[in-house]
Amino acid sequence: MITCLNCGKLFIGNYCPNCGQKAEVERLSVTVLLKETAHFFSHFEKGFIHTAWDFIVRPGRASIDFLKGKRKQYQKPVSYFLILTGLYILLHNFIIHRYNYHYSLFRESKSPLNFQEQSNITLRTHFTPFIVIVILFSAVIIYPILARKRYNFVEILALCLYGGGTYFLILILSDIVLGAMFKVNVISMDVFIWQTSVSSIYNLWFSYDIFKRSHIRLFWLRLIGASLLVSLFGWLVMNYLPMVWVNLMD
Ligand SMILES: [Zn+2]
Repeated sequence: MITCLNCGKLFIGNYCPNCGQKAEVERLSVTVLLKETAHFFSHFEKGFIHTAWDFIVRPGRASIDFLKGKRKQYQKPVSYFLILTGLYILLHNFIIHRYNYHYSLFRESKSPLNFQEQSNITLRTHFTPFIVIVILFSAVIIYPILARKRYNFVEILALCLYGGGTYFLILILSDIVLGAMFKVNVISMDVFIWQTSVSSIYNLWFSYDIFKRSHIRLFWLRLIGASLLVSLFGWLVMNYLPMVWVNLMD
């Protein structure tokens, strides 16, 4: 019998059945700290890469596995989403400053910016909060149209966090390839259109792969309807919310 040094329970085995702490606790030393650091990163990396890869190539399988209880092999949805959003903001800002990219308006006069132009600049320079709103709200659209029979709302929200995190990962790769390798202005209108197309395609693939097994009546109609609604909502947010923002800032 061993007494758990963390919670005091008497037990036999390698781990405490009550709190999960290891039976043998080493005294802290440089070696132990290094070992733990290496352990943390190798596990984190494994879970993270596994989650990202699965949600790109087989989001349906990954979602079903995760919701049915295979939780340990996946990075948790909230941390996955927050880490990738944070990484994207850091990298995006770094690339914009490093290569001195600006959002240029096609205008000839030097008159002060009008309202529409100010909103455009707000959107291109503060892209992330607007996408985050679209991602979170897409759960509200997808849930009643495709998911209500099999899943609850929070489950769909968790899947949207995985989808959204993966979308930010795609944006990170796109920024690296376009902005850093090919020196394309990543806050230009062309790149905005490219990002919008990628998000529509990924959104369609993601929903298709998750719900294709659900035996939903009028599946294709619902799938395309939901994707169009998400795109429409995204378009409204990208067009009108920056105006509200500019208004509030004045
Ligand atoms: Zn214990």
